[in-house]
Amino acid sequence: MSDLLTVTPAGLFCPAAGAYIDPVRPVEKAIITHGHADHARAGHGAVLATRQTLDIMAIRNGADFCGSAQETGYGEVVRSGDVEVSLHPAGHVLGSAQVLLNRAGRRTVVSGDYKRQADPTCTPFELVPCETFVTEATFGLPVFRHPPARQEVEKLLSSLDLFPGQTHLVGAYALGKAQRVIAELRAAGYHKTIYLHGALEKLTAYYQEQGIALGPIEPVAKRGKELSGEIVLCPPGQLSDRWARRFGDPVAAMASGWMRVRARARQRGAELPLIVSDHADWDDLCRTILETGAQEIWVTHGAEEALVHWCEMNGRNARPLNMIGYDEDEDTDNTPAVEI
Ligand SMILES: [Zn+2]
Ligand SMILES: [Zn+2]
Repeated sequence: MSDLLTVTPAGLFCPAAGAYIDPVRPVEKAIITHGHADHARAGHGAVLATRQTLDIMAIRNGADFCGSAQETGYGEVVRSGDVEVSLHPAGHVLGSAQVLLNRAGRRTVVSGDYKRQADPTCTPFELVPCETFVTEATFGLPVFRHPPARQEVEKLLSSLDLFPGQTHLVGAYALGKAQRVIAELRAAGYHKTIYLHGALEKLTAYYQEQGIALGPIEPVAKRGKELSGEIVLCPPGQLSDRWARRFGDPVAAMASGWMRVRARARQRGAELPLIVSDHADWDDLCRTILETGAQEIWVTHGAEEALVHWCEMNGRNARPLNMIGYDEDEDTDNTPAVEI
């Protein structure tokens, strides 16, 4: 057991610091790992997070999303009671962080959501050695092995070559995934304008303001069939919505780690599944657990039992946290269905 963390109905709590990490209900003091809606809720008293996470929370919930916000940069130490708190890159989305709690050299790390794959839109994951590691397990089954994102966007470009008269509609979540898909398309040599559904505009503009190069981007606005042969990004829910019909007979693609599962692709109406994930796959979960050197592993957020079993087989103590309030679906972010 970690003496630094307990599990409460509101989420993970560090009694010595008096702070919750990514609480699922309003609390006095919260440390927020990143801006996805199931981690970053509005209504807390004080919030400690990176500048970018605070900005994203304000974009989504309004400037008054908490009582008082405290910004901290990666690696800066903030003292809270007799605990030193610091945030370290998680490689998940812009501003995302792992939380290190250090009391007299005893170290516990809460990963938040993380990935090890390269991502041109955020700071890469930093390995933080610790004794207790709280890991996510969204893709905590051995069947989940994510291919390189580049290979997946190349499938999209090949389809565009094969069907140059059709709009290619790509379902992607508004925070992180949409911007990563755009950046990967640019890296693969696609330099034409990319069109965005209204619900993706604000966060994409924020990424650009933060210096992430995404090339020429325009809102879809009222356009439809004029965009034949173009790439259009929209929230996943819009793929099978009336909104998509304005493009005639578009090719529907979807970018998500779940696209490994055919039934999920079908359910989304995605003819062209692109396996692009902002979460660690099975190999990277296992590798990261070993690399942290932690003996105590807490598993949350997804397929907990399989990873707990793997940890035990590898001589670690492990426990599933079974916390409620976090989405097992990838990157759920309540992207509004209406065009804004
Ligand atoms: Zn999550
Ligand atoms: Zn997330």
